[in-house]
Amino acid sequence: MYFCQNFSVMYRTHNCGELRLDDAGEKVTLSGWIQRSRDLGGMTFVDLRDRYGITQLVFNMDQDAALCQEARNLGREDVVRVEGIVRERSNKNKNLVTGDIEIEVQKIELLSKSALPPFTIEEETDGGDELRMKYRYLDLRREPLKKNLILRHRMAQEIRKYLDKEGFLEIETPALIRSTPEGARDFVVPSRLHKAQFYALPQSPQIFKQLLMIGGYDKYFQLAKCFRDEDLRADRQPEFTQVDCEMSFVEKEDVMRVFEGLIKYLLETIQGIHYKDEFPRMTYGEAMEKYGTDKPDIRFGMEIHDLTGEARGRGFRVFDTAGFIGGICVPGGAGYSRKQLDQLTDFVRRPQIGAGGMVYVKFLGDGSVKSSVDKFFDASDLMMWGERAGTCKGDLLLILSGEKQGTLFALSELRLEMGNRLDMRKEGVFAPLWVVDFPLLEWNEEEKRYQAMHHPFTSPLPEDLPLLKDHPEKVRANAYDLVINGVEIGGGSVRIHDTELQGRMLSLLGFTPEQAASQFGFLLEALRFGAPPHGGIALGFDRLVALFGGGESIRDYIAFPKNNAGRDMMADAPNFISQKQLNELHLRFRE
Ligand code: ASP
Repeated sequence: MYFCQNFSVMYRTHNCGELRLDDAGEKVTLSGWIQRSRDLGGMTFVDLRDRYGITQLVFNMDQDAALCQEARNLGREDVVRVEGIVRERSNKNKNLVTGDIEIEVQKIELLSKSALPPFTIEEETDGGDELRMKYRYLDLRREPLKKNLILRHRMAQEIRKYLDKEGFLEIETPALIRSTPEGARDFVVPSRLHKAQFYALPQSPQIFKQLLMIGGYDKYFQLAKCFRDEDLRADRQPEFTQVDCEMSFVEKEDVMRVFEGLIKYLLETIQGIHYKDEFPRMTYGEAMEKYGTDKPDIRFGMEIHDLTGEARGRGFRVFDTAGFIGGICVPGGAGYSRKQLDQLTDFVRRPQIGAGGMVYVKFLGDGSVKSSVDKFFDASDLMMWGERAGTCKGDLLLILSGEKQGTLFALSELRLEMGNRLDMRKEGVFAPLWVVDFPLLEWNEEEKRYQAMHHPFTSPLPEDLPLLKDHPEKVRANAYDLVINGVEIGGGSVRIHDTELQGRMLSLLGFTPEQAASQFGFLLEALRFGAPPHGGIALGFDRLVALFGGGESIRDYIAFPKNNAGRDMMADAPNFISQKQLNELHLRFRE
């Protein structure tokens, strides 16, 4: 269409984000996408965009009517090359780094015509989630996603820099492995060459990194793709990236020191935050008791207080039949209206939170109390609860009750909700925390067996080893989780490096010796050949980047994510394969 052969240079002398007033008068060539154009009288203004920014192009009807007409024929997202002179803009745009200049275009060439984009490709878009995922490559042109991917890149580089300096080797491990479930369900890949046999995709490189330690590579890391075929909860991806690490001749403290260092380094280099103190630590028990979760957001207090002793047995049926009664104190909340309290009751009653109802006590400014259970309790009871929960005049005590685990969970969700409402979960504040002393095992009621809370290769705390035989439920794991702002950023452990103990552990988890040998034989075998004491950690890279980017969803920090149902909306995967492929794989579907 508009074809201009005689460009004096290649596609570009500059990108769309770099020209400044100092460049005025210079002849330049730019290439990029048409973000939008505006016709004003005899002038046409076009925003040209590339990865680096936006530069305004100007066409003047009086000077070159044909060229101006060409510009007017351009549509959104057309790809063009232009040549022209940098001029100072009379109407400067302070919001744009190139806002002091514009290009007076002399030549233009259409490099690629665009179909009408299905949504507006600007900072604010009119496209819904699913539509934008279907056309992810168009969404990727938008500034917010671009910023996120650049952040991801920068963090990956800094992580590599830090770990390299600490002496870690980046080593890749295979993506087609043997099915060795670590807790979640494996994705499997049928083998064509080996009839009826399957590879699995790794849930993590766990076993391989341990084998690397046995291989003598005492500091390993990798930005590893992990695959877990789990029921999808909000903000979960079936494939995700871990900063996966392992070290030999280390104890828990050594691993924690190196990775606390990594987080501090990232806070410094990416956020400009100098975090000099040691990260606080909390036992799993304390976290559950005070925050109702093993990943507490400690940017704010509002801890849970156990009121079971004080509130039960006073004739209020709801409390009397509860296994646990707990409350949180909302500072300054005594003024909450009926409507606000109803909203909170609705919140805790949501199926995903699961509380039956909520009791409140207002501690009014004049020293009196008012509650939703005035009929059952007198003021001195309520005052006692308040004392226990550390309330002051003007505060509001919110109380939930029921079965212990569920109630703690609901209280933890209510606490986070109140933290949001009171703006106590400040953006830009990073509150890291190590959670330690997890139980080694948890009881799986459905399968009537223990399962590893972390994974089957986690060692017990040495001092708890004697309990393993008779009280396995009391044994604590030599494991640690890193939590930042209520987000589980990573977890790891010191591993079992002894064949006999590993065998005992697998048997505790319900594996017969034959099953253990069949599934984990190569690891058990390797442990016989001089396995060094070792331990490691894996950080959820997508989550870490989202946390640093201040985003809600990891999806916004992954170039090509799956949707909430685990589908790739763009490529439409998963999908059926041809009969020929099925035949080659020796697979047949039962009706
Ligand atoms: N492989 C573990 C996981 O993916 C992390 C670790 O123990 O290093 O959770």
